[in-house]
Amino acid sequence: MQAATSRLMRAYARQPVSFIRGSGARLWDEHGVEYLDAIAGVAVTSLGHAHPEIAAVIAQQAGLLLHTSNVFRIDWQERLGERLCALTGMQKAFFCNSGAEANEAALKLARLHGHRRQIAAPRILVMENGFHGRSIATLSASGNPSKQQGFEPLLPGFHRLPYDDIDAVRQAAAQSPDIVAVLVEPVQGEGGIRVAGTGYLRALRALCDQHGWLLMLDEIQAGLGRTGAWFGHRHADISPDVITLAKALGNGIPIGACLARGAAADLFSPGQHGSTFGGNPLACRVACSVLDIMVRDKLPERAAALGGRLLAGLQAALGAHPHVVAIRGQGLMVGIELDRPCKELVGRALAEQRLLITVTRDKVIRLLPPLVCDETQIDDIVARITRLLASDGVKAATTAEISEQRMHPHV
Ligand code: PLP
Repeated sequence: MQAATSRLMRAYARQPVSFIRGSGARLWDEHGVEYLDAIAGVAVTSLGHAHPEIAAVIAQQAGLLLHTSNVFRIDWQERLGERLCALTGMQKAFFCNSGAEANEAALKLARLHGHRRQIAAPRILVMENGFHGRSIATLSASGNPSKQQGFEPLLPGFHRLPYDDIDAVRQAAAQSPDIVAVLVEPVQGEGGIRVAGTGYLRALRALCDQHGWLLMLDEIQAGLGRTGAWFGHRHADISPDVITLAKALGNGIPIGACLARGAAADLFSPGQHGSTFGGNPLACRVACSVLDIMVRDKLPERAAALGGRLLAGLQAALGAHPHVVAIRGQGLMVGIELDRPCKELVGRALAEQRLLITVTRDKVIRLLPPLVCDETQIDDIVARITRLLASDGVKAATTAEISEQRMHPHV
């Protein structure tokens, strides 16, 4: 395994397992061992692995046309723009390849919005523990100092506030006339599965209206059905000015989108922003199919029902666990916070329970299963997590024990 990764930069602390095949919420490694996927490629494969309709669309489009460039009209891009605007209430779309790029587009819109208002150094409100990507601008907007360390100087123009705290926003508004926009996640994913209150989101909308700020919602992790509604902000029944999407939009084919309405929709003029690959026929056609399937199979409703089952199951099994501090979430975006760092559980879940999980903010087990899971698989996730946390408190297995188990996976 080491040899296979030796030419790769050490940007990731990878688990020593390699999957070669998947189906729905199930994955198989190179030894034929089956695993249950409770993270869906970090909220990407919401339709599950190897979805037959998506596979067929990819094959068909690959045989027709993959790429021409944004120098030309791209029919599938225009169709996807129509679909997403109808779904979100936005008016215009810009397509790119990732979440970070979608947020870059939003940040550029915010700065243009500020300059239109004669604000020379526009400032954007962002939140503690927020996560918006790894490019220098989106890293600067993110609220995780450990991920920013080493990459200074960060970009200026961000004003960071505590999350879900509307008084802090009011205070900032009173102190700084240079604010032009707010960038916020309706549910903080990397930040430890923190759900913004509906009152907070509504009050943010009102403050943005009052001050002429753009309300920019990062729905990259929470959007497209995951929280049990089409978008995280739907729980608060508000309409933002800008929405960013990526992850589940392509079910694994890279695509990002920045959607806007009102003044924000017409800020870019030709030549001001662009992307070579963004919005190519393959990615846009796949995204149209993803939306078709999500609508047809009522996946947001499914996420609400399965999410309720997952939360209830975890609360029943682990609510009284001595190391569990909180179990929280919305739809199929669920976190289990422990009273101690628990990153080693990712490796132990793989080795002992054949279960894919992630740990975020050091202490929060994050579960983001595919929206196509069935009830049995949801119950199975609860059972495997319960066994994982029951086996020995949350004590880490030694590295030697874990490698021993991987060498004899059927034992
Ligand atoms: N925004 C949110 C809320 C995310 O969760 C992520 C990725 O985890 C990003 C932005 C960045 O997306 P990408 O990794 O596709 O650049």
